Amino acid sequence: MKLRRSGIMCSAMTDQNSRPRGYEPRENLDFLREIVRRDIRSGVYGGRVATRFPPEPNGFLHIGHAKSICINFGIAAEFGGVCHMRFDDTNPETEDMKYVESIQRDVRWLGFDWKENLFFASDYYELLYKLAIRLIRDGLAYVDSQSDEEIRKGRGTITEPGVHSPDRNRSVEDNLDLFARMRAGEFPDGAHVLRAKIDMAARNMKLRDPLLYRIRHATHYRRGDAWCLYPMYDFAHPLSDAIEGITHSICTLEFENNRAIYDWLVDNLFPEPRPRQYEFARLNLDYTVMSKRKLLQLVEEGLVSGWDDPRMPTIAGMRRRGYTPEGIRLFAARIGVDKANSRVSMEMLEDAIRDDLNARAPRAMAVLRPLKVTIANWPDGGVEGLEIPLWPRDTGKEGTRTVPMSREILIERTDFSPEPPADWRRLRPGGETRLMGGYFIRCEEFVRDPATGEVAELRCSYDPDSLGAPAKGERKKTTAIQWVSASHAIPAEVRVYGRLFAAADPENVEEGKTFRDYLDPASAEVLRECLVEPVLASAAPGDRFQFVRHGYFIADEADSKPGAPVFNRVVGLKDKYRPVAR
Ligand code: ATP
Ligand code: MG
Repeated sequence: MKLRRSGIMCSAMTDQNSRPRGYEPRENLDFLREIVRRDIRSGVYGGRVATRFPPEPNGFLHIGHAKSICINFGIAAEFGGVCHMRFDDTNPETEDMKYVESIQRDVRWLGFDWKENLFFASDYYELLYKLAIRLIRDGLAYVDSQSDEEIRKGRGTITEPGVHSPDRNRSVEDNLDLFARMRAGEFPDGAHVLRAKIDMAARNMKLRDPLLYRIRHATHYRRGDAWCLYPMYDFAHPLSDAIEGITHSICTLEFENNRAIYDWLVDNLFPEPRPRQYEFARLNLDYTVMSKRKLLQLVEEGLVSGWDDPRMPTIAGMRRRGYTPEGIRLFAARIGVDKANSRVSMEMLEDAIRDDLNARAPRAMAVLRPLKVTIANWPDGGVEGLEIPLWPRDTGKEGTRTVPMSREILIERTDFSPEPPADWRRLRPGGETRLMGGYFIRCEEFVRDPATGEVAELRCSYDPDSLGAPAKGERKKTTAIQWVSASHAIPAEVRVYGRLFAAADPENVEEGKTFRDYLDPASAEVLRECLVEPVLASAAPGDRFQFVRHGYFIADEADSKPGAPVFNRVVGLKDKYRPVAR
């Protein structure tokens, strides 16, 4: 088997032609791929590779999950293995079918396919219960009737060993009897728990007789009221891996200490070769929060318009915002897989999105804050169709659109200054500028609104010989500006989104504040007076464009209608940031 060498080459990304700029295959395998390659070579799993993505269905997926998805599905695809989609649904209080649906939709949208390998931990309850009974029979688990508080105290501290529970030496018969009655619903929540009998003096606190089962009289979204006894994550997760024949169980660093429980359980209950857990650094991204609980709070408190608010770091939000799956995968490949936690700048994500969109978003002109311009020497009623390229040269793509030019046009207010600074490259009184794809115009006169004093209109002339002619002299020092013909332009709503939080690390809060206090109220600006060129009238929801000099935009999936377009700004253009080569 020939291994693909780069982490970027997940199956969904092998189309050479759509490879975005900035793509540089990494020479070295990351540590996870090294491990997988080693295991294939040694034959420990008979050459098999099985990974899994195990979300709890208690919220929408975010960009951190996207990293995990790209790693798990990516490794499976690169090494000819499978990646299971498993819902880790062992907590009846917070889980919901709507999250199961959104998670599946998001993983598919990112470009990955679990095929027939869709699993639910809640389908293993009976099997897990039987495995717990085996532990009890083997003297490896016991029912503890202490209160939560007593259990916590008995666990000791990092410097002091824990103490044995008075119930630690219950007989196997008593344990089996109590455990069966816990399942049968004879006891209220908290009356008893099942604990592993490991080592109350263990250096790793997680090994001090961890909880395996707890009583919860709550309705589960899939199992209804069939169970009132629920397995803990530390019990359900490794055993679900083993049940499914997972080979490499890849999770984030905060589970490093849990690996000892993982190993203890799987070694006691399953034969070799059994799954092994490996940890990588979670993604922390500036200007966002990355916890489903906090994102849920934003949604429930109405601080955003929903899980798919275009400012949310959720996959649904990024989709609505206009990010592409390819751009997100490119980002995941560029950040790579690491063993040390760090923060990633938002520019790195935005840059990947830009690099992907550059070659796939045709160019068009939009005037977001219009200023009226009359071309005095343009024939009254005359219209000329200018053929303007849809693509810049570096994309290698061809095609043009026709942009009508007439006597009255609109330009961006910010492209004219009555008293410009010395280095001004746009329109000024008496100065010339090229209309992008068209003629040079000269500002002969400007008119102020008598009430507000603001510039209300420009009177210009145009140079009929300047179309397509190279600029010379003073003209070379100017920038071409976007424009639309007044009688042909299409009114549009444009939503300019910024970053949801004003602070780079909104979870690292000052005393007395919460992450909500760092929300940026100016992060969603709605512009309703925009005018766009006629070709955009037929934009279908989901179509993406570059509005020249403004950034990348998408016709909103929910609100945009042909003839009455609504655009979201995906990402601006100005950022010159380039990631370091990895
Ligand atoms: P959250 O704290 O946002 O609820 P979680 O870890 O509880 O996240 P799960 O549904 O349990 O969410 O996560 C599913 C998988 O995604 C896990 O394997 C987890 O390690 C991984 N994951 C979650 N957050 C990140 C992140 N920020 N970066 C990388 N992987 C992540
Ligand atoms: Mg979790």
